[in-house]
Amino acid sequence: MIAFIGVGALLLAANFIVEENVLVERTTQITRVAPAPAPPPSIPQPVIEPPPAVIVQRRVVTSEPLMSDLDRFERAAQGRVASKTEQSETEYQQSSSDLDTAARTFVTQATAISGKSFQKLSAGIDDYRTHAAQVLLMADHRQALIGEYSTLFEDLSARVNNSVKSAWKIFGRVVARQSLLQLSADFDDLRRGFTTLASADDAQTPDMVLLLKTEQTIVENLATNEAGFRRSQGDQWYVGMRDDVARLISLRESVLVLNKQLHGRSTDLSEEAGSLALLVPNKVETPLAAAAVKVKTVASESRGRQAPGAAPPVVAGSVVPESVVPDSAESAPAVVETQSVTTLPPPDHKKRVLIAWSSVAFFVLFFSIAVGTVLSVVRPVRRLRDATARLAKGESAVRVSRGGIKELDTLAVSFNVMADELSLAKAATHEYQRSLEAKVEERTRQLKELAERDPLTGLPNRRELFSLLNAAIERARLKGCLVGVLFLDIDNFKYLNDSMGHAFGDRVLVSLGQRLQDVTRAFGFAARLGGDEFTVVLEDAQSIDSIELAGLDVVQAFQKPLSVDGRELIVSISVGASIFPDHELDAEALLKAADVALFRAKALGRSQLSMFTPELLEAAAAKFSTEQGLRRAIERGEFELVFQPEVNAQSLQTSLVEALIRWRTPDGELATPGQFLAIAEESGLITEITDWVLRSAIEAASHWHNGAWPEARVAINVSPRDLLDNRFVDRLAELLQEFGLPAGCIELELTESVLQTGAATISALQRLRAHGVAIALDDFGTGYSSLASLEQLPLTRIKLDRSLIAGIDTNPRSAAIARAIIGMCQGLGLEITAEGVERTEQFAMLVGQPGMYLQGYLLARPVARDDVLAALPNVNAHAQQLLLRSQATASPTARSLSTLSSPGVAQAR
Ligand code: C2E
Ligand code: CA
Ligand code: CA
Repeated sequence: MIAFIGVGALLLAANFIVEENVLVERTTQITRVAPAPAPPPSIPQPVIEPPPAVIVQRRVVTSEPLMSDLDRFERAAQGRVASKTEQSETEYQQSSSDLDTAARTFVTQATAISGKSFQKLSAGIDDYRTHAAQVLLMADHRQALIGEYSTLFEDLSARVNNSVKSAWKIFGRVVARQSLLQLSADFDDLRRGFTTLASADDAQTPDMVLLLKTEQTIVENLATNEAGFRRSQGDQWYVGMRDDVARLISLRESVLVLNKQLHGRSTDLSEEAGSLALLVPNKVETPLAAAAVKVKTVASESRGRQAPGAAPPVVAGSVVPESVVPDSAESAPAVVETQSVTTLPPPDHKKRVLIAWSSVAFFVLFFSIAVGTVLSVVRPVRRLRDATARLAKGESAVRVSRGGIKELDTLAVSFNVMADELSLAKAATHEYQRSLEAKVEERTRQLKELAERDPLTGLPNRRELFSLLNAAIERARLKGCLVGVLFLDIDNFKYLNDSMGHAFGDRVLVSLGQRLQDVTRAFGFAARLGGDEFTVVLEDAQSIDSIELAGLDVVQAFQKPLSVDGRELIVSISVGASIFPDHELDAEALLKAADVALFRAKALGRSQLSMFTPELLEAAAAKFSTEQGLRRAIERGEFELVFQPEVNAQSLQTSLVEALIRWRTPDGELATPGQFLAIAEESGLITEITDWVLRSAIEAASHWHNGAWPEARVAINVSPRDLLDNRFVDRLAELLQEFGLPAGCIELELTESVLQTGAATISALQRLRAHGVAIALDDFGTGYSSLASLEQLPLTRIKLDRSLIAGIDTNPRSAAIARAIIGMCQGLGLEITAEGVERTEQFAMLVGQPGMYLQGYLLARPVARDDVLAALPNVNAHAQQLLLRSQATASPTARSLSTLSSPGVAQAR
């Protein structure tokens, strides 16, 4: 903008200047008149329609050429003083001659014009030239001295340098060498100083001071080391050196003196030139009175010859009267001015006004265009700049209004497109970020829940339980109240889970969790530790009784069936309880105590609540140690099998022995299954134990079957859990094959709890049956659903539990039940084993029954594998004796059971 205005102002100014020049040219015409012939009067001059002009003609001679030559001469003289060269000499000579000519011409013409005498000026110029010539002589003399000085210096320097070079080679002249080197160095210093010798006015300049000092050093060096120099360089060298140094100094002094004089004379010359200049007038002119001659302009003369209407000449023609042209031959530098002094009538005012107005109009137009252009650029650029800044700050809604020059308008459109895209992108990013944040929030919540909640039941998990329980303990500590911890476990959940599938098991857990929550809400909270283990915390309890009551409430809450998948399901739970601060003081220990109590509760049967006692802890410790021992027992071969005969009640022969496990613990004791099998079941070790039992029993059976006792059959106790392993059947088949034992030699004994393990187990049993393996239902008469198991399981034998047999000889009711069951099994075609036959009366009542086998201490205790073959004849003989004895002491009850006897029994008898 400023530049535009500046350019405009310049144009305006230029316009005015041009206008002024036109005006000046129109008023003053200066013509330098050379001594050339005047133009012939016949040549027509351009004319304008002029206002009539009055011209006064005057003759003028200026001193300009003279002054110029004077000045040139002075510079040439000074140059020649400074250095004498061919060029400076020529220039000096030429300028001197030119000055002389110019002076003469000026004086002649000025005298002619003015009538005054310029003698003093003429003489002054002559003197001036003479003085200049004298100064030049002095300068030349100085130049000669400097030349001499230089030559002598170079000679001295060369002499010293030569001596230095020689001295380096001659060892004997060591004394002189240092001083010589010094001398050489001093001459080098001197060389630096003497280059300024020509320009030095006096000895006070720094260069001269150094030069003088160096001279002094040289003189002193020569004097001090005279003897050495004389010895090393020779007397002639020394004397020559000393004298020439003195001469050098003297030359230098002369040069300095001349310098000073020259300086003075040069100054004088300049002053003289100044004085001369004062004598020269600027110009000399004809006195006005003498020159006032009115002349006719050429224009007015020629006006008559011009065509009417032709443009008048712009400039008035010059008039050079013949009389003023000098007729002297040497008129070269002379200047004669013819000056037309116009006393014009008022100039062409209208045109000036027109020009002025057009200038103003042009300026205004130019200014408007400039401003318009600037605004059309600046405004859109500012808008774009502001919008960009706002966009950068994050205002995505910002748009630029269009306008301005085409390129900027296009830029604005592009900007808006970009801003649109940006705001779209921003919105997308925002949306993405929002969804991301929502996801993160949701994930965080999930993670928190995962960290604190059990994902299945939504109850607090183990971690959260600990934190809540710790808080409850802390509160109880402060308030002096109690905290009850209940450890819950679903009775036989494993069977339920395995038989019904894990998905169903999960839904049972969810439903159970829900019920727990409902029950405990009034006094505390429930948590899930994992699997089927739940915990209930009773906060702020006031007494042990209240905790016990709450525990019973929890147990009883599960007397009512749960609804799972629309099915009513009775799921009983066992509960162990511990109390803060009575039993333990921290969360971990309280849970452990409740767990110990739970173990006890489970041992008591279903739906039991057991409170922690220190003894339980001991039992738990013992259990733990048993478990540890069991883990090592298999590896160490601590298990043994004993075999108890089952005697056929009709033939009184033993063709079947039941394998029973024993554990010879490291301390030498023989542990019975009752001491460790429950723990093995609980810990899962039972699978490995069964494997061992199977292999050992099959190996023994094979040994007997393929040896001295071909009809041998072995009954093996199997845990329902074993059957859940779908590899069980194959493993058994492999073992039979490995030991070359027919499947019919093996009978597996299972308790009816196998029914709870579901369809998979039953199918496994069916496969076993298909292989030819016999299946016996053990401990018949102790469970609740014995009759159902008879129907559902692919059984070959029923083993009547010892509790059923125990009273048959003493209790008519027991005898009646036994009789009924035996009759039923016989009806179903199942073989029967009566377990726990301890008395002859019992024997007497059972002997002779078809399909009946007798097992009990009365007939035989379990014997070691290696004793079996030896024991068999005794067992059989013992049975015969028992038969005889029982016949002798037959009781009415025995007879009543005997009524069931078949013809076979009669035969045996
Ligand atoms: P069970 O299958 O009922 O085995 C019979 C148990 O009764 C055996 O006890 C046996 O010694 C005992 N017994 C036999 N006759 C009499 C008697 O006249 N009077 C009394 N009071 N007891 C008698 P044991 O060997 O202690 O076995 C206990 C239980 O341990 C077995 O009961 C069986 O369920 C289990 N068991 C034994 N060995 C194994 C095994 O190898 N595997 C599995 N899974 N369980 C086994
Ligand atoms: Ca058994
Ligand atoms: Ca049994």
